Amino acid sequence: MTKKIAVLPGDGIGQEIVAEAVKVMEALKSRFGFRVEMEQAPIGGAGYDTARHPLPESTLRLAKAADAVLLGAVGGPQYDALPREQRPERGLLGIRSELGLFSNLRPALLYPQLVHASTLKPEVVSGLDLMIVRELTGSVYFGKPRGIRTREDGVREGFNTMIYSEPEVERIARSAFEIAMKRNRKLCSVDKANVLEVSELWREVVIRVGKDYPKVELSHMYVDNAAMQLVRAPKQFDVMVTDNMFGDILSDQASMLTGSIGMLPSASLDKNGKGMYEPIHGSAPDIAGKGIANPLATILSVAMMLRYTLNEIALADRIEQAVSRVLDQGYRTGDIWTEGTKKVGTKEMGDAVVAAL
Ligand code: NAD
Repeated sequence: MTKKIAVLPGDGIGQEIVAEAVKVMEALKSRFGFRVEMEQAPIGGAGYDTARHPLPESTLRLAKAADAVLLGAVGGPQYDALPREQRPERGLLGIRSELGLFSNLRPALLYPQLVHASTLKPEVVSGLDLMIVRELTGSVYFGKPRGIRTREDGVREGFNTMIYSEPEVERIARSAFEIAMKRNRKLCSVDKANVLEVSELWREVVIRVGKDYPKVELSHMYVDNAAMQLVRAPKQFDVMVTDNMFGDILSDQASMLTGSIGMLPSASLDKNGKGMYEPIHGSAPDIAGKGIANPLATILSVAMMLRYTLNEIALADRIEQAVSRVLDQGYRTGDIWTEGTKKVGTKEMGDAVVAAL
């Protein structure tokens, strides 16, 4: 059956990197029989420019009807002065919640060819391959009540609510256990159960769900310790599952262990495994339009899409091997360039991957 993919390039380098990922999908289509239909639509600042909304109605319709969504990135300084509701980031939050994407998969994989791009010692990071599963639609980013108010004594205060229901924890735990089953059957749940009641419930539910996955070795860690362990000995982890805010921070930290955010893909899944796939980085306004952005995170997002939503494992492997091969051949965009390798632009890197497929 032909798969429908909604392609949402977004803003800044989003346009450039998504064009390369589309090129890779076209190559899979013409050379390896991948049956795919792609349709593009604006989101973020581009949505505001065309329809005065960061998530235009027609874009949402397209995303809902598609089998999977490929996103570039959103945001740019020209939109910073807009009211909060019209800012590009709203488009992203909106599509995540409209599609019910609650499980965010953020791998941190260090390619052996890039071991020197990491700021950590090679012996600490070489061979690193971990997956952070971040809950994406709950906790303090969405909890109510929230706001800024003035107390009776005239002092202003800001407040948010960190809240999880049992079913919310249960579904993210299940998602993480399923992923652990596909990897090395080791899962670490990260919380702050020594201080927060919401974490106490989180831990209780994760342990309960774990009973259905007796083959997975489950451990627990406080988030402050997890932050420390990620830089001290990151290879002790295989799959980590955590709350929305903890996951936001820890996954950025984990990504830097690998040296460049230009290399890392991500997936956000709904309860049926339908997903939105995107690089973890933003729209990089500082380099937008220069043709120098690294397209590999977006190309690897296509590989994740093939693996986790479209069930085309052989094609996913093919893309990942092609990326590894271009690194072997010495091709590097500026963000991962080191002495003695070949510096190339966005388009050349995309062409090299297509050639290596
Ligand atoms: P950023 O990820 O866009 O950039 C951080 C740094 O990394 C910059 O120096 C940039 O040049 C570099 N970089 C990022 N991607 C790269 C790539 N593929 N190749 C080479 N270098 C790359 O983060 P930022 O500067 O904090 O944010 C810029 C804009 O992006 C803001 O408007 C922000 O809100 C938005 N943003 C969007 C997303 C998203 O769409 N998911 C995520 C983060 C930030």
